[in-house]
Amino acid sequence: MGSFFRSNIDAMTGYIPGEQPKPGSKIIKLNSNENPYSPSPAVEKVLQNFDWKRLRRYSDPFANEFRNAVGEVLDVPPDWIIVGNGSDEVLNLVIRACAEPGRKVVYPMPTYVLYRTLASMQPAEVIEIPYPEDYRLPVEEIIRADGAITFIATPNSPSGHVVPLKDLRSLATNLSGVLVVDEAYVDFTTEDALSIVKEFDNVISIRTLSKGYSLAGIRLGFGIANPKLLTGLYKIKDSYNIDAIACAVGAAAILDRAYKNACIEKITTSREKLASEFRELSFRVWDSQTNFLLVQPPRDNAEDIYLKLKAQGILIRYFKQPGLKNKLRITVGTDEQNQELIASLMPLV
Ligand SMILES: *Cc1c(COP(=O)(O)O)cnc(C)c1O
Repeated sequence: MGSFFRSNIDAMTGYIPGEQPKPGSKIIKLNSNENPYSPSPAVEKVLQNFDWKRLRRYSDPFANEFRNAVGEVLDVPPDWIIVGNGSDEVLNLVIRACAEPGRKVVYPMPTYVLYRTLASMQPAEVIEIPYPEDYRLPVEEIIRADGAITFIATPNSPSGHVVPLKDLRSLATNLSGVLVVDEAYVDFTTEDALSIVKEFDNVISIRTLSKGYSLAGIRLGFGIANPKLLTGLYKIKDSYNIDAIACAVGAAAILDRAYKNACIEKITTSREKLASEFRELSFRVWDSQTNFLLVQPPRDNAEDIYLKLKAQGILIRYFKQPGLKNKLRITVGTDEQNQELIASLMPLV
């Protein structure tokens, strides 16, 4: 019997998301970089007042209510924005539009694992360039690889570091293909790639409401790029990829900047506190400009710690991957959650 699937689908590994516990279970969930705080109260208002009869009709193919709100907040014309069902969908659109066998997909490692999954789907030739231990971007090697698509997550996951703008500018200048700047964690930093997006027509910044805005469950992300780069993505996008509720919720959330900024400030304060507690336990801790920390236990027992915490109902992330063997990625929770984590961790170190 032959396979039902294309040979590359048989050969590839599916993306493995962080465990999602059943609603209501008493789990401290620090494995998917979700925001520990509720979405903006403006979201509750939208949901309470949403006219359910509107659902009879298809949603807006351009998600204009949300797109205009993003444009207003970021001072970008709406036709420079494409909205996705999570930023994962926008990453998927770029892959489907630009990658194929014989065209290269390039990214530094370790980074967001989904890039590999998406490239294997096409398939495209994948070139993974290892980061050095200090996570300085190997700019020259990336330029030499000259991908049809180059993915740079900044701040990067799971390392938490920011790629300097001058490196991004150097990539944008020298690459002939598309530079995808995955800014899923941009709300936790001060630098962003918007100036480079405006300057170069081969650069797209991809952002999400899942992390900074506490809306992972609504599935809303967007790309910002020169309209010339968006034409190919709009051609292949599902017409009604954003449902009417998500569009209204997203617009309300992104317009409530004060609420988002207050949450971000709480999280960054908690992050620095948590980082110093890890250091006191003799962990190595990488500087992070995100809502998570990459840490390395003093003994060679990261996987064991991960499993033991899981048995106690605390989920963190362990990646069985070169370069990450003895490291753990831990989402910053509320101060209470972080305290429970540290208390459970102490006997394991
Ligand atoms: C969380 C994350 C995403 C995905 O975000 P969604 O909008 O929820 O699909 C993309 N890139 C990176 C680096 C992330 O960490």
